[in-house]
Amino acid sequence: MMARPHRPRAKPAERDRNGHAVVIGGGMAGLLATAVLAEFFEHVTVLERSSATDRHPWPSGAPQARYPHLLLARGRQIMEELFPGLNHDLSQAGAPVFDFGQRARILTPAGPTPTPTTDIICQASSRFLMESLLHARAQKLPGVVIRTGTTVTGLRVDPSTRAVTGVTCTRRADPSRQSPEELAADLVVDAGGRHSRLPDWLTQHGWPRPRTTVIDPRLGYAVRSYTIPAGLDLGFDVLSELTRAPAHTRGCLGLRIEEDQFLLSLHGAGGDYPPSTENEFAAFAASLRSDLPALLAQLTPSSPIFCYRRTPNRRHHYDRIRPWPNGLIVLGDAACVFNPVYAQGITVAATHALALRDLLTHAGGDDRLTSLTRFQRRQARLSAWPWLLSTCLDHDWNPHTAALPGRAVSRTLDALLGTLPDSPADYTRFFAVLHMLAPPYTLLHPATVRGILTHLRRREDTHTGHRPATRNPTDHLEV
Ligand SMILES: Cc1cc2nc3c(=O)[nH]c(=O)nc-3n(C[C@H](O)[C@H](O)[C@H](O)COP(=O)(O)OP(=O)(O)OC[C@H]3O[C@@H](n4cnc5c(N)ncnc54)[C@H](O)[C@@H]3O)c2cc1C
Repeated sequence: MMARPHRPRAKPAERDRNGHAVVIGGGMAGLLATAVLAEFFEHVTVLERSSATDRHPWPSGAPQARYPHLLLARGRQIMEELFPGLNHDLSQAGAPVFDFGQRARILTPAGPTPTPTTDIICQASSRFLMESLLHARAQKLPGVVIRTGTTVTGLRVDPSTRAVTGVTCTRRADPSRQSPEELAADLVVDAGGRHSRLPDWLTQHGWPRPRTTVIDPRLGYAVRSYTIPAGLDLGFDVLSELTRAPAHTRGCLGLRIEEDQFLLSLHGAGGDYPPSTENEFAAFAASLRSDLPALLAQLTPSSPIFCYRRTPNRRHHYDRIRPWPNGLIVLGDAACVFNPVYAQGITVAATHALALRDLLTHAGGDDRLTSLTRFQRRQARLSAWPWLLSTCLDHDWNPHTAALPGRAVSRTLDALLGTLPDSPADYTRFFAVLHMLAPPYTLLHPATVRGILTHLRRREDTHTGHRPATRNPTDHLEV
């Protein structure tokens, strides 16, 4: 097993904390960045436009919050590093911890995968639980203030130095205020997610709009939560049926989470969107190769059905704006959004937070804001592999848009997926890379390359497009 062993960093020495950082958005990326900024800045203010409700003590403004969020193993490690004790809190709240290899039932187009022990350790929870625990810990950090119900409306820029010097914002609780409030900051971090307005704000101050790449798999989600009856052992913690262009438009992701809940999302790509009505949801579930009707017959629905369709991969190339303003960085979905089926978003945002810490650690003293002008290039490098992975597969939903290198990677990944049902070793290598525990070149292991070549040769021989399942696909669901 080649997964990089996790070595939590030693607690950083007490630093000279000075200055004020403002974080736009208190979602996953914003809260992770806050943990880092609190080490270096005397004051950190998080501005979040949503407000708490009775149901959710922390107001995630992210509409996707009710959908199953699989946190990749590397993301889990980083979160624990930034918020020590978080995994324990999650366990206390009932979030299951498991070895991904043993407890994930995955159905690829080529058939069900094996269930080896992988040491890829995951923990599944609702996004609401994860975010509210992060929030509870973030607001206890020294110098951190979290203001909810506050919407950032623009940037403050010093006209002489062209540095970003703060933000303008409006507070919902204060509608009598006519003009937006101004908040001065040494550093502004845009973690406003997929609806970030930063491209507009930059152009308002004379910077060019970032070039943006969009690759749309035309994917839709329909999600519902279910209660698992007491005493029922599902035999798995993750259930996944993969989509793959062009034939396999339909798939699912199911997660066993805290409070005996099972969160199930059905998804359809290439415009084959799942429906929101009860009967059609059941029919869509029954159309999958996994035996979902047998599973769902044992569970009790505990929520309505919710649908979501804004899933394109979208990348703003902020790294190409030169000169980049002092006093501003962008991370998480605000910089790069991935098709959610690959479950990369939170983990990539976590790697952005670590990159921020690395730059601040090695900047030293007054230099630190200048050092952060390199951040967008780092962020772009960290997003490059996850971007390649999701977009080269998604290009196939729009084949006319795919460039040759992307098509080659996609064919190779297809062949690799084809080897997984019969090779626990390839499975382990592939998922270690997918969980970002091992670098992508791990897949150049001679045995994996041999498997890929054999698979490609077999496909050429048979001209069938996809290899037939080696086992009955419904075998992978043993409830
Ligand atoms: C259906 C679906 C399923 C997904 N599944 C997974 C998964 O399984 N695993 C995974 O890792 N990722 C998944 N993702 C992706 C994941 O949700 C995102 O990558 C992650 O939430 C990014 O966090 P963020 O903080 O950048 O953005 P967000 O979580 O969107 O947070 C942005 C925050 O900023 C606030 N905000 C925005 N603008 C302003 C403003 N002007 N002023 C003040 N506040 C503002 C918003 O209210 C929000 O709270 C999924 C996404 C979707 C859509």
